[in-house]
Amino acid sequence: MNTVLVTGGAGFLGSHLCQKLIKIGYKVICIDNLFTGSLKNIEAILENKNFRFLNHDINIPIENVNADYVFNLACPASPFQYQKYPVETIKTNVLGTLNVLELVKKNNARVLQASTSEVYGNPLEHPQSEEYLGNVNPIGPRACYDEGKRAAETLFYDYNRQFGVDIRVARIFNTYGPNMAKDDGRVVSNFIIQALKGNPITIYGDGNQTRSFCYVDDLIEGLIKLMFNLKRKLPVNLGNPQEVKIKYLASQICKLIGNKQVIATKELPSDDPIRRNPDIKIATNYLNWKPKTNLELGLKNTIKYFKKIS
Ligand code: NAD
Ligand code: UDP
Repeated sequence: MNTVLVTGGAGFLGSHLCQKLIKIGYKVICIDNLFTGSLKNIEAILENKNFRFLNHDINIPIENVNADYVFNLACPASPFQYQKYPVETIKTNVLGTLNVLELVKKNNARVLQASTSEVYGNPLEHPQSEEYLGNVNPIGPRACYDEGKRAAETLFYDYNRQFGVDIRVARIFNTYGPNMAKDDGRVVSNFIIQALKGNPITIYGDGNQTRSFCYVDDLIEGLIKLMFNLKRKLPVNLGNPQEVKIKYLASQICKLIGNKQVIATKELPSDDPIRRNPDIKIATNYLNWKPKTNLELGLKNTIKYFKKIS
């Protein structure tokens, strides 16, 4: 039985990944310092004999862990969280990633980096393909995350070139679903919680900025395929190509919850990307992957989850 290490395994994506890996027959070690994650997310597998949880900060070298595969997901992912803790965020992306790569080198394992569409910054090309080099502000409030993730990718390719480490890089676009933290400020969770409470929906700016939302089950399938089914070390975009305006997302959520939509407009945060949309030709052609869950179904599942926990 192969062992898989998931850093950030108690977070939103990590918790789904750990559960899926156990279900398909792997032994899973989850490392998480619970900075933005929660044991609640992994409650269902905590006692599973094939699961081990280690409360550890990846900025401290990882010792006495043996794994065949490593998914490196540890990093705060919501703009609200990473802008509150910018130094911790860039440190985790650089020092934490170095520690993960050292472990992988020692274990002769394969490692997948959870990179992000944020490496494209506020993109000037649409949709964004893996070849696009991006438009990132290195000194802005998002830089701890954007530049941190770019540096993490650099480390991955340098460990590959210098030490032959076996790498995979997924550039993940906005993903949503159950186990998102209800207070982490991301748009889907914010809008659902606001609508469920009957509060006004906080649209930043005019709401014409776009994102492309991928349901978590689809994303996890993509990550697993990329890790186990493909010998491709170049980055692969994973996301749903359906691009929507933020004001459309707000109206859909209110419609599904059955609320009359009341909007509270707030200032658009600086460097907030105006458009974001993945070109997923590589994932489709090489991984035979594309998202199956449409926005309405994904939102219904997510609303059900937030109703249950609130
Ligand atoms: P999340 O905040 O829910 O999960 C991140 C997890 O990492 C948390 O459990 C947190 O406690 C843990 N963590 C943070 N710093 C750590 C450290 N120094 N040591 C150990 N654990 C640490 O976020 P998520 O949405 O699940 O994102 C997971 C990964 O996927 C992140 O790397 C993120 O950048 C990437 N990603 C996510 C999205 C998305 O839409 N969800 C999009 C692009 C990329
Ligand atoms: N947003 C919004 N209202 C909110 C939260 C976010 O209008 O309450 C907008 C935000 O300005 C951005 C988009 O929704 O344009 C997605 O924001 P999120 O924080 O989820 O992730 P991002 O894609 O910016 O990393």
